Amino acid sequence: MSEPTTLVEAVTHFADADRCHALMCAIKWPDGKITCPKCAGDKIGQIKSRRMLQCKSPTCRKQFSAKVGTVFEDSPLPLSSWFVAVWCIANNKNGISSYELARALGVTQKTAWFMLHRIRLAMTTPTFGKLSGVVESDETFVGGKAANMHAKRRAKVITGRGTVNKVPVHGLLQRGDKDEPSQVRATVVTDTEAATLIPQIALNVEKGATVCTDSHAS
Ligand SMILES: [Zn+2]
Repeated sequence: MSEPTTLVEAVTHFADADRCHALMCAIKWPDGKITCPKCAGDKIGQIKSRRMLQCKSPTCRKQFSAKVGTVFEDSPLPLSSWFVAVWCIANNKNGISSYELARALGVTQKTAWFMLHRIRLAMTTPTFGKLSGVVESDETFVGGKAANMHAKRRAKVITGRGTVNKVPVHGLLQRGDKDEPSQVRATVVTDTEAATLIPQIALNVEKGATVCTDSHAS
C-alpha cells in the first residue's frame, strides 16, 4: 500500500471506506486484540458489509464501530474525511489551513477548523481515545496576553479569580496507575463558564468516567 504524498492523493487514498475501517482498527487495537466495549469479551466478529464489529458472547452480542471510545465516535463525518485531516496534520510541518482542508473535503471552513482542532487535541494520545477512569478537571490562567486583547474580549475573558492579564486554560488529567501513565490535555478556552467547560469535558472524557473538579461553581 503506497502512502499518499499530496493532499489530492490523500483524499483518494482515504476515500476507500474499507481501508479506513482497517486503519481505525489498527490504531485502536494495535496488537490486533479487539475487545468488546460493553462486556470486555475478546471474541469479536466482523460485519464486513457494514464495517462494524460484533461481540460473539451470547449474552452480549453488542455491535460497535471501530470509532467507539475515540474522539471520532460522536461525529457524523466519515472516517474518510477524518483521516485526510489527520494525514494533513501529520504531514504538513508548517501546518495546514482550515481553508485548504475545507476545499479538499468539500466541507465548510468552520467544520474543517473544528476537525483540525479536535485532532490536534486527540493526538496527545496514541489511539485518539477519550480520557477515562478518574479524570480531574481544572482551570488555570496563564501568561499576560490579555494586555494585547481587544477591550471587549478582555472584559468577556477576564472574570475575577485573580485573573487580570491572563488567558484561561482548561486542563484535564486522567489519573494513572501501575498499568497506564497519567495523561494530560490542556486547551485554551474563551472563559471558564460552565457552558464552555462542560462541552470540553464531554469531548475529551468517556461516558461513565468519574470527573473530579475543584469548588469553582462552573
Ligand atoms: Zn460484549
